[in-house]
Amino acid sequence: MKFVSTRGQAPVLGFDDVVLTGLASDGGLYVPESLPTISEATFREWQSLPYDELAVEVMWPFVEGSMPRETFESMVKDAYGSFRHSAIAPTKQLSHDTWLLELFHGPTLAFKDFALQLLGRLLDYFLAERGERGVVMGATSGDTGSAAIEGARHSEHLDVVILHPYQRVSEVQRRQMTTVLSDNVHNVALKGNFDDCQAIVKASFMDQAFVSPNRLLAVNSINLARIMAQTVYYIYSGLRLGALDREIAYSVPSANFGDVFGGYLAKQMGFPIAHFTVATNANDALVRGLRGDLSRKPLEKTLSPSMDIVVSSNFERLLFDLHGRDGLKMSQVMDSFQTGAVQLDDSVVNQAKALFSAHAVDDDQTCATISRIFEETGELIDPHTATGVDALQVTPSGMTKVVLATAHPAKFAEAVEKAGFDEVPLPSDMTDLLEREERYTVVENDLDDVQSFVRSVMG
Ligand SMILES: *Cc1c(COP(=O)(O)O)cnc(C)c1O
Repeated sequence: MKFVSTRGQAPVLGFDDVVLTGLASDGGLYVPESLPTISEATFREWQSLPYDELAVEVMWPFVEGSMPRETFESMVKDAYGSFRHSAIAPTKQLSHDTWLLELFHGPTLAFKDFALQLLGRLLDYFLAERGERGVVMGATSGDTGSAAIEGARHSEHLDVVILHPYQRVSEVQRRQMTTVLSDNVHNVALKGNFDDCQAIVKASFMDQAFVSPNRLLAVNSINLARIMAQTVYYIYSGLRLGALDREIAYSVPSANFGDVFGGYLAKQMGFPIAHFTVATNANDALVRGLRGDLSRKPLEKTLSPSMDIVVSSNFERLLFDLHGRDGLKMSQVMDSFQTGAVQLDDSVVNQAKALFSAHAVDDDQTCATISRIFEETGELIDPHTATGVDALQVTPSGMTKVVLATAHPAKFAEAVEKAGFDEVPLPSDMTDLLEREERYTVVENDLDDVQSFVRSVMG
């Protein structure tokens, strides 16, 4: 498969280069040049496959040409072998017509493991092929850092440096990162806030030569391999819930639009998904965006912190399709958005409305939903998942509804306690998390200090 940039100017790349590149050189995001259409008969044949075998079938058209199929098969088996549930992505019934798709059985208890367990292995493989080493650098206030660390802890050609704001992340979140004692994992506790961490990572990517001869790598959700991995669980759950024979709608707790875009790709490949509901918290950029209003609002801190964003990076991938895949038009739209608000054309908004609805859920409603679902079902859901459940009120009626449960409630104790529940226990293999040995380095809020640290640790 070949990949093109949403802004039309960057070179067309193959899968290996797309995985290693991240952002396109014209500022756009890579998307498949074209997708295979899978027939209904093939989907029916796939109904009996276990998760990892289905994952190979769904992803192989993307990967083909970049490695032997057997190599990819064992990579996928290995990536999902660390999950705590044998179904990998099990579904649980919430009501007569509503299911939860549980995506929190991976090593760090959030859906990001699906993509990052695979991405760490893909990067390692492609670097080895080229005889190169890479440094993954990222800033985190939550789920991405720990998932990236878990995904790369066994990589031989990769170092991981994750910055978190010193004394400003919850103990569970911090310990999920700092208790991974692999030689290639380096946690920086920066004496600053999350924005300072992000600013230093961004400045480092403008100055990539500082890691030379190593390659600086990003694992944020603009990496297309992450989206590709997320396509699989829509098809896996849809096949189990009868998507081939009835209308099915997915409700997706959303921020950067990466997770829901995975479902959109499944639909583009011919899988019959009738509707997507995009749930946000008070940071409602996507609710406004799907109405055609591209604008920025100040960040609000919420009880669903992994959805606290100002700009939704992957939304550009949908806009590219809605603008007839016209890269020039997209660069104009994104250039205008760089300097102010943009109102999208009616034709674009109407196409979006045909497939997507969207709803913003505030913290009070989030807590009320956690309580209600517990009363109705005995299930304790996490605050991100709760936004997806509450947003079902805008899903067209009559469809079978699936809510993506994006995190385990033990990870977000604050919201669960605010909703009136005791702390949720961690899974049994993690109960000693608070006693495990930690390793991290406190570094001043200074670009040079961080870059020297990175150079001193990289292999
Ligand atoms: C990252 C994250 C989200 C948002 O996913 P996007 O791909 O950014 O839309 C939702 N819930 C949880 C728990 C997350 O970690």
